[in-house]
Amino acid sequence: MRQSKLFTKTIKQAPKDETSFNAKTLIKAGFIDKSSAGIYSFLPLGLRVHNKICDIVREEMNAIGGQEILMPALTPKKAWQKTDRWDSFDVLFKVIGNNKREYALGATHEEIVTPLVQKHIFSYKELPVYIYQIQTKFRDELRAKAGLIRGREFSMKDLYSFHVDKKDLDKFYEITKDAYFKIFNRCGLSEITYLTYSSGGDFSKYSHEFQTLAENGEDTIYICDDCKIAINQEIIDEQKVCPNCKNKDLRKEKSIEVGNIFKLGTRFSNAFDFFYTNKKGQKHDIEMGCYGIGPSRIVGTIVEVYHDNKGIIWPESVAPYQVHLLDLEAKKTSEDIYNKLLKNEVEVFYDDQDDKSAGEKFADADLIGIPYRLVVSKKTLEQNSVEFKKRDKQETKLVKIEKIVEELGGNK
Ligand code: ATP
Ligand code: MG
Repeated sequence: MRQSKLFTKTIKQAPKDETSFNAKTLIKAGFIDKSSAGIYSFLPLGLRVHNKICDIVREEMNAIGGQEILMPALTPKKAWQKTDRWDSFDVLFKVIGNNKREYALGATHEEIVTPLVQKHIFSYKELPVYIYQIQTKFRDELRAKAGLIRGREFSMKDLYSFHVDKKDLDKFYEITKDAYFKIFNRCGLSEITYLTYSSGGDFSKYSHEFQTLAENGEDTIYICDDCKIAINQEIIDEQKVCPNCKNKDLRKEKSIEVGNIFKLGTRFSNAFDFFYTNKKGQKHDIEMGCYGIGPSRIVGTIVEVYHDNKGIIWPESVAPYQVHLLDLEAKKTSEDIYNKLLKNEVEVFYDDQDDKSAGEKFADADLIGIPYRLVVSKKTLEQNSVEFKKRDKQETKLVKIEKIVEELGGNK
């Protein structure tokens, strides 16, 4: 991608009403735009990051047997009344259409997925099934001050599982825990993300959250360093010891909830009279689980944890591009290198702008945070080379032009 063609620019000042670090930085770097509190547009660079995270999530959900669907965002009042959540779900956005028809904008999809699966599944032979979507969710959050961490409109992957009994649900629940860690690992977050015991809401004693350590996080967790698990402050009063090893020496940290998995039991299947027929031909309860993860919140979380005072430092797996090629008045060679990188399928963002100083180009590259920076200038060309620098390192080195592709591959 040529930077001269990108319709967005880096900007000096984030909007005054934006207080969160992640949104201020992402707005300045041209990844997102603020529409109103908790509501953002994803711009070309931001969308690339978001989609890479979605692709990782999708691959790991498919790997455990998830089947992707897309449910409506406009969900009828009747469904929410069936589960008694129309009045009790505090953050529902409610919409009135023609003829006073009432809907909620989807905040979660148990009310839609349960009757949907019910139309197709009747017998034990057809269970278990795992259904998921990646979709925009709407929640009228009271405080939307944390940028992408707490949107009123945000993206969520929500998977719902349907089982013949608790044992089968328990088994799959553990499988999704592993899949979630694979996702956080691939997003560069596993080292600082803790499986956390949390309230199970109306559904069960505990749920499990995935909490990523971050200074500006809205949550507080207590970590057991022996087991590498944590407990959410919400339930710490019940559980002042590590649930695993009974250790009482827990470390208090600020964190961001990036994922949350629940055992729903029969709460929703019963509400919709959804049963299956067992081997003996008898009607039997269906056990359900739900598994959420927030790609847009993960974008914000990565910015909160991976940055320096100059800008973002994207992990390679989710970076908008792998290489930022800066031309400093050596256009002909820069063009050749750009084309060669494209030919070799290297994801390259090329600063080909003629009206920007070297200083501005360097500052933009640091702000945007692409993992590898290549600088082509008259000086580097004297040695038939480009200057090569990793975003997270101070050192620079010269790399011969014919070795660039190899060098990039060799660093992966
Ligand atoms: P929180 O406790 O932070 O309000 P939640 O427990 O209500 O979140 P879930 O319903 O479990 O959230 O949603 C699943 C995932 O969706 C969360 O783990 C998070 O990654 C994401 N998510 C939830 N609410 C938001 C939001 N307002 N903005 C961005 N992402 C969100
Ligand atoms: Mg939660």
